[in-house]
Amino acid sequence: MIGTAMPAPTDSHTLLRRAGLRSTPQRQTVLDLLGDGDHRHLTADDIWRAAASRHPSFNRSTAYRVLEQLCDAGIVQQTRFGDSAHFEIAGAPQRHYHLVCRSCGSIENLPSDGLADITGRMARQHGFTIRSVDLTIEGECRSCRRGVSPRV
Ligand SMILES: [Zn+2]
Ligand SMILES: [Zn+2]
Repeated sequence: MIGTAMPAPTDSHTLLRRAGLRSTPQRQTVLDLLGDGDHRHLTADDIWRAAASRHPSFNRSTAYRVLEQLCDAGIVQQTRFGDSAHFEIAGAPQRHYHLVCRSCGSIENLPSDGLADITGRMARQHGFTIRSVDLTIEGECRSCRRGVSPRV
């Protein structure tokens, strides 16, 4: 829902139940990884590697299958940056867009305040009902502009 501040999601079990999905260890692992610490943007391979280090039986196709299920259920959102896709908990910590650095690939969240008003107004002018907005702004981050690589 555009312009609706969503509360930060609680635990993975609650998220799954609310979406009507059975709580399996694989689904919980993926959600735990995405919700771990700070809000994360991870590729499917990041998730696969991290999950496999905890549970050796967690293979690559499991990661892709679970992510697809979670995206279909609206718990996880996928954002494409160039050639790669990143996954994160949908609407967490709140609805936001992304600033992506072309030099180092860092991804920063951009709160949607103000932008939601604009997209909402444009949609009304076109008699359009918005289901989702995916806005990615590409450029150079602060560190890269200073000529310092934030991390390798
Ligand atoms: Zn950068
Ligand atoms: Zn994000």
